[in-house]
Amino acid sequence: MLHLFDTASGQVTPIELRRPGHLSMYVCGPTVSGEPHLGHGRFTLTWDVLRRYLTWSGVEVRFVSNITDIEDKIIARAAAEGTTTELVASKYEKVWWDSMDRLGVWSPTEGPHATAYVPQMVELIAGLVDGGHAYVGGDGVYFASESVPDYGLLARQPLSSLRAGARIEATEESGKRSPIDFVLWKLAKPGEPSWPSPWGAGRPGWHTECVVMSLDLLGDGFDLHGGGNDLAFPHHENERAQAEAIGRPFARHWVHSGMVEAEGGGKMSKSLGNVMSLPELLDANDPRVMRLQVLQSHYRSPMTISPSTLAAATNTLRGLDTFASDFAAARSAEPDAALLGRLRERMDDDLDTPAAVRLLFEARDRARTASLPGGCGDADRWAATVFEMADVFGLPLGRDDEAVPADIQAIADERSVARAARDWARSDALRDRLAADGWIVEDGPSGTTLHR
Ligand SMILES: [Zn+2]
Repeated sequence: MLHLFDTASGQVTPIELRRPGHLSMYVCGPTVSGEPHLGHGRFTLTWDVLRRYLTWSGVEVRFVSNITDIEDKIIARAAAEGTTTELVASKYEKVWWDSMDRLGVWSPTEGPHATAYVPQMVELIAGLVDGGHAYVGGDGVYFASESVPDYGLLARQPLSSLRAGARIEATEESGKRSPIDFVLWKLAKPGEPSWPSPWGAGRPGWHTECVVMSLDLLGDGFDLHGGGNDLAFPHHENERAQAEAIGRPFARHWVHSGMVEAEGGGKMSKSLGNVMSLPELLDANDPRVMRLQVLQSHYRSPMTISPSTLAAATNTLRGLDTFASDFAAARSAEPDAALLGRLRERMDDDLDTPAAVRLLFEARDRARTASLPGGCGDADRWAATVFEMADVFGLPLGRDDEAVPADIQAIADERSVARAARDWARSDALRDRLAADGWIVEDGPSGTTLHR
């Protein structure tokens, strides 16, 4: 049985399903105000691996992940670029799904847009106001956090330290009664996009969006609510508090994944110049390196991405691709049940993917040894185990399966000419064209290769 660390209890907990054989999960999706960053790549891959593993185990997974398509940052970007919030949101939503496709992240079962749920959000807020859990402040409607007895559960901090950590100056401007109260409905300033409400035209707060969409699609007491650990507090706690206040059972379990750090620890930030966007990483590397790195880090630990980790992952994948072509005939063989059993044990133990990946390497080494002269002859069984595990992880191996179409090869050849002439701008533009068609270009010592 799957066990995961539950942020609410602070312990590794058995995941008992609301309905046996079916798992319902909500993961906070992106605010589409700019290009996704590496942290987005990490959490989407983490939950994709969990979803693939459960599906392989015979569990039917209903996976909901939203798009926040109205938010302050989208409004600010639209104003700065002289365009509309709709155009900003649709542009970056497309970049988001393109990146997810390149990472091989399965599409969510449902991907609700916040703007499609505004009437339901207004209804929820009205219920909170009626129940005495919310009040009208100077610039919108606020949630009275301290009206929920266990407020702060997911922060794992007492109220006093949450109060001390909140920004007091913001309280004075907005008419908030407590520094830890949060906005449910923001009244629109002139020119801002807005929807009607009993409190005046405005837009919903982010915390209200997710509680409405998750409950609407997955129903009361859904199994798992996940996201990056930077969302546990305040975002997830604020979702939970609203559900609690209206008396609806919310997520049964809370799971959070760790952050991506710069080399040597520390934050990635624009001012430090160590930021790479996810599309940039995917342009410059085989997208599988990101997945392999995510698998080789425990999902709750911080993870480092640097030129050296990317190079190591690239090398590992190259070796696995060679293995895949050497043992291609074993794809249809029967995998080793005992080793797959050990894989299940590792994955069920709080998603121990680093150990699970080591089992894949163990199977690879056994296949290599078994195929040596005088080996035991069951190489196919071990090789089939490698292929099976790679499938579970969503890591396709081998690159010789797909022929390169002539028009794609022509672009690649043109790029080789540009590279030979050291015309990097032209070469990059051609690489982008190939990438747009889903082709990855790698320049190795033996020349340029193309693969999907
Ligand atoms: Zn959310």
